[in-house]
Amino acid sequence: MTENLNISAAEWEVMRVVWANGETTSQTINFILKGKRGWSSSTVKTLIGRLVSKGYLQTRKNARHYVYSTHLEEPESLKSEIASLLERICSRKIPNLIAYLIEKTPMIAEDVVMLQAVLQAKQAVAEVPCDCFPGQCTCHLHSIDSILSNYSHEEKEHAN
Ligand SMILES: [Zn+2]
Repeated sequence: MTENLNISAAEWEVMRVVWANGETTSQTINFILKGKRGWSSSTVKTLIGRLVSKGYLQTRKNARHYVYSTHLEEPESLKSEIASLLERICSRKIPNLIAYLIEKTPMIAEDVVMLQAVLQAKQAVAEVPCDCFPGQCTCHLHSIDSILSNYSHEEKEHAN
C-alpha cells in the first residue's frame, strides 16, 4: 500500500525539484521556483518548512547551505495522489475517466502497444460495486428516499 500523503499543490512544486535533483540546496529550490512561479525565497522557505515538519523532506547543513533530500519516491507519491483523486468519484465511473485520459494523452506507438497489452491482460469482473455514500452518486439515487424517510422517522421519534 502507498502511504496516504498530504502534499499541497504548492508543496508539490518543491518536491518535484528535489525528486529531479536528488539532494538539493535551498538556493537551487529558490532559483527554480522563482523561475517557474515567481515565488519569493520566504514563500519557498515556508513550503520547505512544512514539508520538513511533515517528514517528507530531510535536512542537513553542509559547509554553507541547508541541503534537502526525501525518502519519498516520485512514482509512489503520484500513485497516492491518484488514489486520493479517485476517492472523489464512483468506482463504476473510473473506466470512463481512463478512456478520457487515453484519448487526451499524446502517445508514441510503443505507449499504445503497452496499453493494448494491459487491456488484453485485464480480467473483467461481473460487476463493480458502488461504495459511494448514498446521495453522492447516481448509482444510489433510489435510496435517497429511504434515507429521508429514515431521517423523518428519527425526527418523529425525537418529537415523541
Ligand atoms: Zn457510486
